[in-house]
Amino acid sequence: MADTTGALNGPFSLAVSKDDWTPSSWRSKPIKQDVIYDSPASLTAALTKLERLPPIVTPTEIIKLRNSLRDAALGKAFLLQGGDCAELFSYCSADPIDSKIKLLLQMSLVLIWGANKPVVRIARMAGQFAKPRSSPTEIVDGKEIPSFRGDILNGFDASDRMPNPDRLVSAYFHSATTLNYVRAQLASGVADLHNPLDWGLGHVRDKALQTKYQRIVGSISDSLRFMRTVGADTAGQLQTVDLFTSHEGLVLEYEQSLTRRLRHPSNYTSPSTSTDGKGWYNTSAHFLWIGDRTRQIDGAHVEYFRGLENPIGIKVGPSMKGDELVRLLDIVNPRKYVGKVTLITRYGEGKVEELLGLHIEAVKASGHVVVWQCDPMHGNTRSTPTGIKTRHFSSIFSELSSALKIHKEHGSFLGGMHLELTGDAVTECVGGSEGLVEEDLSLNYTSYCDPRLNEKQALELAFLVAGHYRG
Ligand code: PEP
Ligand code: MN
Repeated sequence: MADTTGALNGPFSLAVSKDDWTPSSWRSKPIKQDVIYDSPASLTAALTKLERLPPIVTPTEIIKLRNSLRDAALGKAFLLQGGDCAELFSYCSADPIDSKIKLLLQMSLVLIWGANKPVVRIARMAGQFAKPRSSPTEIVDGKEIPSFRGDILNGFDASDRMPNPDRLVSAYFHSATTLNYVRAQLASGVADLHNPLDWGLGHVRDKALQTKYQRIVGSISDSLRFMRTVGADTAGQLQTVDLFTSHEGLVLEYEQSLTRRLRHPSNYTSPSTSTDGKGWYNTSAHFLWIGDRTRQIDGAHVEYFRGLENPIGIKVGPSMKGDELVRLLDIVNPRKYVGKVTLITRYGEGKVEELLGLHIEAVKASGHVVVWQCDPMHGNTRSTPTGIKTRHFSSIFSELSSALKIHKEHGSFLGGMHLELTGDAVTECVGGSEGLVEEDLSLNYTSYCDPRLNEKQALELAFLVAGHYRG
């Protein structure tokens, strides 16, 4: 059993050594979703530029998140992670960023009320520019062209599908600009709980449900008013919140360029294994995850991730075997630091019953203590008869409630949820209390990849999960 300060008591179970790891050691491993550029000189120029640019996030922030995730792994905090499937460079604009911050803040308040624990917020934002694709090409207007792989690699426009290394540099600047605006808004009071929040519940058609949600909002508002009245905010904790950033670590050339050897910060609590008091920090985001298509044990992505100090996620889909999962954990976290790894399970509502329990037991037996996070989106994607990708709100909630139940049955607990959402009024997922149906999907379907919950559906999901805790 691992201890709560981070390190494993007793002998290490696996002889995976970090000694032979470097930020570029992934290059000698087989790689999935590889990118072939037609100009090696332009690629080198872009990477050289990136290597000189300053970190987007710092070790102090990264370790702060890692420490908070240790609490989530131990059941003392809940992790809310959400944002677009594919973030486009054009989303780097005040309104969509503002609406996403507001939505994540409101959802987190509902979850704090429900689960009665602090909520750790991670946005899938400020860098979620790369997409793994199931096929390298697609047919557009009868022509086979390379698939859109996200703004960091190529453009959505059919004429712009060749990977362009300048986009790597552009990704850095869009990431930094987005995070700069988030930081400025948080510092300027956008998440100041002294200000009343507009919850906008008028869309909820079912009167009983609306009354229920109003009651929750009333209860949250009362608590905040009470705290302000009695002066419970001496440390200024109601004035702002932490919001961390994350993306899938898919384009390893980009991630390598932003991986820096930096001094461990003063909040670094795990025993350091380095002799120079430094470690390798990916400074492009606080948290990165390995996608379900790139998590091969001997592959490049796992190799790259195993050297990082950052907290990391691993997507766990239906094809994952229990022993494979434990081997992966042993490789990326040989010292079994508690909460270093978040397992992002995404089986689908029909498979979660069969698989989650097996995985929980396998991990338990291994002595790893992880954050169990449910991604109820990626196993529940469907196509309508006319070929539009969508997800049903009821399937999403069904996988989440199954996960809550199965964890309980196994003496474990759900540590968080991972959602694709937007603060805008899109019509991409069906269901929810607005009563969106398939015919409505064309009204405002703007995702360039997977369908996202709109702000009403996302908030409703938070109410439902909160309700589950409150009974
Ligand atoms: C995603 O999170 O957008 C994604 C591609 O997920 P997965 O790797 O689980 O399929
Ligand atoms: Mn997606």
